[in-house]
Amino acid sequence: MKLHYYCSSKSCGKLNSMKVKSNNRFDLKMEIGKEINQRCKHCGNHTKKHINRLRAEPNYTIIIGGVILAGILTLFLWDFGFISTLTSTIPIAIWVNENKKASAFNKILIRD
Ligand SMILES: [Zn+2]
Repeated sequence: MKLHYYCSSKSCGKLNSMKVKSNNRFDLKMEIGKEINQRCKHCGNHTKKHINRLRAEPNYTIIIGGVILAGILTLFLWDFGFISTLTSTIPIAIWVNENKKASAFNKILIRD
């Protein structure tokens, strides 16, 4: 899961991202603890954030990968005609799935 947070430095406030293995905040707490203490990529200041304040975003790399895969499949299976409608559902299915995962992560907060 790719997580986003804003730099706590007032003069910076830029968006940072980090990659974690967890798909929910309960696992995340096990993985990295209740708080993050990350260095901002833009200004170098450390940002302390409770993990409830991290936001997940759909993984666009996976979505783009799905679009490319569908494109390749369509080219190879063009002769079958009906296949283009089938392959175009692949990136949509992946996109829906990625969005679901991200919104599920954002909805569920840990206590304390
Ligand atoms: Zn910063």
